[in-house]
Amino acid sequence: MPSRLELRETKVAKMANISDAMRDTAGAVANEVRDSGSSLNDLSASIPTTMHAWRVRTEPAPIDTDPLEWVEVPVPQPAPGEVLVKVLACGVCRTDLHVSEGDLPVHLPHVTPGHEIVGRVVKVGKESSDAVGTSQADASHTSNAARSVRVGQTVGIAWLRHTCGECDFCREGKENLCQRSRYTGWDANGGYAQYAVAPADYVYPLDDLLPQGTEDDAASAYSTVDVAPLLCAGIIGYRALERTGLLDRYNRRDWSLKESETSDGPAPRQPVLGLYGFGGSAHLTAQVALALGMKVHVLTRGKAAQKLALELGCVSARGAYDDPPEKLDAAIIFAPVGAMIPVAMRALRSGGILSLAGIHMSDVPSMNYERELFHEKEIRTVESNTRQDGREFLAFAATHHLAVDAHPYPLAQGQRALQDLKAGSFAGAAVLVP
Ligand SMILES: [Zn+2]
Ligand SMILES: [Zn+2]
Repeated sequence: MPSRLELRETKVAKMANISDAMRDTAGAVANEVRDSGSSLNDLSASIPTTMHAWRVRTEPAPIDTDPLEWVEVPVPQPAPGEVLVKVLACGVCRTDLHVSEGDLPVHLPHVTPGHEIVGRVVKVGKESSDAVGTSQADASHTSNAARSVRVGQTVGIAWLRHTCGECDFCREGKENLCQRSRYTGWDANGGYAQYAVAPADYVYPLDDLLPQGTEDDAASAYSTVDVAPLLCAGIIGYRALERTGLLDRYNRRDWSLKESETSDGPAPRQPVLGLYGFGGSAHLTAQVALALGMKVHVLTRGKAAQKLALELGCVSARGAYDDPPEKLDAAIIFAPVGAMIPVAMRALRSGGILSLAGIHMSDVPSMNYERELFHEKEIRTVESNTRQDGREFLAFAATHHLAVDAHPYPLAQGQRALQDLKAGSFAGAAVLVP
C-alpha cells in the first residue's frame, strides 16, 4: 500500500499535469490578447458578437432531468462601472445546483449559473478610458481597487456582486447581510459561459495568485483552474471558519498568534476542528486550519473524500454520523443536511461553536437541550461573505499554497458536472473550462 506521502506526491503530480495544460490555455489567451491589436485598449476588436452559455431552461428542476440548456446568446455588454471578462475557468459550486434545481427561489429567469469565475478583462464599461470608475459620477462610490481594474488583467468574479453601501449592515462592515445585495449566477448571469460581466468594484484582482506574463506563469503556484474554486468554495469556507471564532487568536496581517495567546501561563492548547462533509469547500478550509496549526477531524461519507482528507494532513476521517475521536472546540457543516446538526452539536465540548456553511439546508430535527445545546454551545449560520473576507482569504492563499483538488470539465459539459457533483462522483471541486 502506498504511503500517505506517496499518495500526496501522486496527487501533486496529477495536479501539476492539469496545471501545465491550463497554463497552455492561459498562454494561448494571453497571446490572443497580445495579437488582437496594437494596444490593450483594442481588445474589444476580438470580442465576438455571440457566445455559448448554459442557462436555466424554463423552471428549475431536478438536475437529472436536465434543467439547463446550452444556448448561443449575445455576448453581454458592460455598463459603466462594469467589466466584461473572457472566462478562462469557472468553478462548479453546490449553490449552482440549488439555483438549477430550485432550492433557491428564482431571482432571474433563465439565469446562467456560475460564480467562481477566473477571467481576463477584455472591456470596461466606459467609453473614453481604459480604467473603470474615473468619472466624477463614479468616483463617490468606486473604490481604489476598482479604479485599478484594467483591460488585460486577470480577475476573479465571485458570488457577491452588489451591496447598497448605505444600510446599517453595509455601514457596520457587515455588507454580507445587506438586504439589497445581489449575487452572480442568481440575480445576474454567471460564468457557465464564454464571457461574463461584473461590477468592477466587486471583482478581485488575481495578480498575486496568477502573475501575468509567460515567464511568471511558469513559476506560478496556481493555474487558472486551481484558482476558480478559491473564489467561492475557498472564500465561503474561510468565512465559515471565521464564524467558529478560531481565527480570533491570530493577527490577520501576518497570521502570527496574538500576544494574548502567547503571554505568560500555560501554552495555548492546539484547537480541535471538526469538518462535516468534505468537498470543494471543506478541502480548502481544512488546509487553512492545518496551516494555522489546528488539529482537524473530518466526518464524511465517501471513501475518496476520506482518503483526500488524510492525504492533506487531517488527523482522522470517519463516517458522517460517526463520533470524532475527541471532543471538538468547533465544527463546520458543509453538507446541506440538517440531520447532521445534532450529531455535530453532541461532538462539541462545552462552549463549542458550530458554523453552518451552506446557503440551503434540509430541515433541522428537534434537539435534546442537555445533550445538544446546553453548556453554552452555539450554532452560527454563514451568509455570503464580505469583500474583506474575500481579500483576506485570497491573500492567505497567495502566501500559503493550497493544494486544489480540481476536476476540469469542458464548458459544454456543465450540466454533467452538476450531475456528478450531486452524485458525489468526485472529492474536491469541478471546474468548467471554455
Ligand atoms: Zn446595504
Ligand atoms: Zn458558491
